[in-house]
Amino acid sequence: MRVGSGYDVHAFGPGDHVVLGGVRIPHDRGVIAYSDGDVALHALCDALLGAMALGDIGEHFPDSDPRWKGADSRRFLRHCGSLMRDRGWRLVNADLTIVAEGPRIGPHRVQMRQNVADDLGVRIDRVNVKATTTEGLGAVGRGEGLACQAVVLIAYGDNGKSHNH
Ligand code: MG
Repeated sequence: MRVGSGYDVHAFGPGDHVVLGGVRIPHDRGVIAYSDGDVALHALCDALLGAMALGDIGEHFPDSDPRWKGADSRRFLRHCGSLMRDRGWRLVNADLTIVAEGPRIGPHRVQMRQNVADDLGVRIDRVNVKATTTEGLGAVGRGEGLACQAVVLIAYGDNGKSHNH
């Protein structure tokens, strides 16, 4: 078994939506990012790469590469999933904590979990998404951006159940 952690922050900028967990959520700001700026999936990818000791998302998807301009971060996640499978790892569980004053996460939580589960080939009950504010403290509290922390556990070996349980 291996544990991995990931963390990502993006600043708000001009725009009318944010993408979180692969869900496009209307908002009065966008995020400044080279890709779609999905902090939830970026943190999750870093957690998976961390667990496998494969560096970080910036090494695998450098923002100097035009292929990743505006990229759907679910592509990054699916790539991390294929790296796992190629090496014989399977996801035990993933737990994401989105830190933001807005937008509201609750209405989109199930869809985020489903997107992650679909991209990693596991059941939705292996993926948790929760959200918190910082009670108005700090940059996130001032509404300057949003952040996500991710923790994953992965296990070696596919006993035939990895896609079911
Ligand atoms: Mg990022």
